[in-house]
Amino acid sequence: MRSASSSPLSEPILPYSRQWIDEADVAAVEEVLRGDWLTTGPTVDRFERELERVTGGRHAVALNSGTSALHAMYAAAGVGPGDEVITSPLTFAATANAALYLGATVRFADVDAATGNIDPASVANLLSERTRAVVAVDYAGHPADYAALRRLAGQWSTVVLADGAHSLGATQGGKMVGTLAMATALSFHPVKSITTGEGGAVVTGSRRLAARVRAFRNHGIIRDSGLLRRRGAWYYEVRALGYNYRLSDIHAALGASQLRRLDDFIRRRRALAALYTERLGHLEAIELPRARADTAPSWHLFVVRVREARIRRRLFEHLRAAGLGVQVHYIPVYWHPHYQSLGYRRGLCPQAEDFYRRAISLPLFPRMTEADVDRVVDALSSGLAKLRARPRT
Ligand SMILES: *Cc1c(COP(=O)(O)O)cnc(C)c1O
Repeated sequence: MRSASSSPLSEPILPYSRQWIDEADVAAVEEVLRGDWLTTGPTVDRFERELERVTGGRHAVALNSGTSALHAMYAAAGVGPGDEVITSPLTFAATANAALYLGATVRFADVDAATGNIDPASVANLLSERTRAVVAVDYAGHPADYAALRRLAGQWSTVVLADGAHSLGATQGGKMVGTLAMATALSFHPVKSITTGEGGAVVTGSRRLAARVRAFRNHGIIRDSGLLRRRGAWYYEVRALGYNYRLSDIHAALGASQLRRLDDFIRRRRALAALYTERLGHLEAIELPRARADTAPSWHLFVVRVREARIRRRLFEHLRAAGLGVQVHYIPVYWHPHYQSLGYRRGLCPQAEDFYRRAISLPLFPRMTEADVDRVVDALSSGLAKLRARPRT
């Protein structure tokens, strides 16, 4: 493949996503650095209350990554050895890994070809008395079909949990992500809706689940005097095994500052997605993502799918050579060698595998300009024209 010659050296690489830090963010972090608390303290409290306000969730608990949020959320929902957790393979490995940390077995349900979200019909085939939780991933920022999942889970008295790493700021039926499932895990990695550098949170309507997450992030320690077996100002108890998954006040200061701009970030992502939709509509060789009627996605990703899987690799390489940081989300989780070693086989979820084979994530982040969008549109058009002219190279 020819490479550098087609790369416009004057133009910077456009990543598939990236953070937007402003002076207010820098000042907020600096203020914490000059104060008394660096680890989990008053700024984490404030960040959690702001998350509750923004999501409409009754309880938010901040943790030091989206992965630790998933781990804590599953543990708090009672996932343990011998249990089954049903989730989508079209996700970052952490969604499934966190169930393995707890000794549970992961059952992969196939995805809906239209959205890439877990397909309730496939979930129905996997539910049993062993199912402890159904975990939906709001793929690309598009909330899953929670109404259907809740109905199914109700028949088996299991819970529906959300991996909302992509979807902070999205709504379904007018309800915010954070209120659609029994509990929702969020990520604040720099590519996500807002960032704390590294960080995450669990948002839930359940006071009990929130209390368990809170203990889990701090070694399992309980200090609430009403719950302790002995008295003493020094006294605390480790009730259930936990970890050090605490977020620092330094990170929380960045998070609280970023959260003020969440609406702007999401509005901007939606406007850019609308521009892509308008300007790519004439390209018949690709399928564009579309929101379901009652959902307003956060557009964490804008994933186009080539109609013919065999051209995906060359189109991807053409876009990379044009300086575009395109990505593929995701390699089906059970294709990874660790999952293969556990006995999962290719072919398990045909829709997810087909989705993966045809997907390309285009650059999409709030600071992108209309000119950036045009650059991506031009590169896609020229790539497809080249592939049509020389179909076998
Ligand atoms: C980013 C992400 C995670 C993990 O979040 P971290 O904050 O990176 O640990 C989990 N699930 C999905 C779907 C993600 O995109």
